[in-house]
Amino acid sequence: MSEIPNQNQALYELKPEINFCTCGCEARLVKERSAESEKGKLRYVVRCLDEMCGRQGRYTQYPWQAILEWNKSPMSEFPDDFRIPFMTLHGLAGEEIRGKLNEKRVELEQLIKKLRSEKVGGNTEQMKIARLQLMWVIYAQSWAKLKYPREDELLAAAERAEQSEEEDEMVD
Ligand SMILES: [Zn+2]
Repeated sequence: MSEIPNQNQALYELKPEINFCTCGCEARLVKERSAESEKGKLRYVVRCLDEMCGRQGRYTQYPWQAILEWNKSPMSEFPDDFRIPFMTLHGLAGEEIRGKLNEKRVELEQLIKKLRSEKVGGNTEQMKIARLQLMWVIYAQSWAKLKYPREDELLAAAERAEQSEEEDEMVD
């Protein structure tokens, strides 16, 4: 069950670093046995090291999934040097990066669908890699959206703010 690095280099290269918590503290991966489950199944979560902060991500079945869930959440800070292990975004403008990520996401979703239709199991290396890559791309998309917002998104955000202001003022 455990992932041995040397046994599976391709998978190992997809291992994400844990982003810092927005409180400035480091966060770490925690492995827990869920009490409710009859077999006491293991589950993973990333939690801030500062107990007073208490921020934590979602519980997941796989350790790296827990890290990527935490990394894409607003509770953690994106690193200054953002990199995806299997894609290069070097020299691309914001809109090109977003386009490339969208394409990659569609490609991976189609691949996973195809593997499922071929009855490729979830524990095969091919499926694990495809799923992890998809999680990485989704994480990268949340980073890119924040870093390179589109004009319509900025407008929509401004409109939403304006609307709620109008509602507050009860303007007819
Ligand atoms: Zn924290």
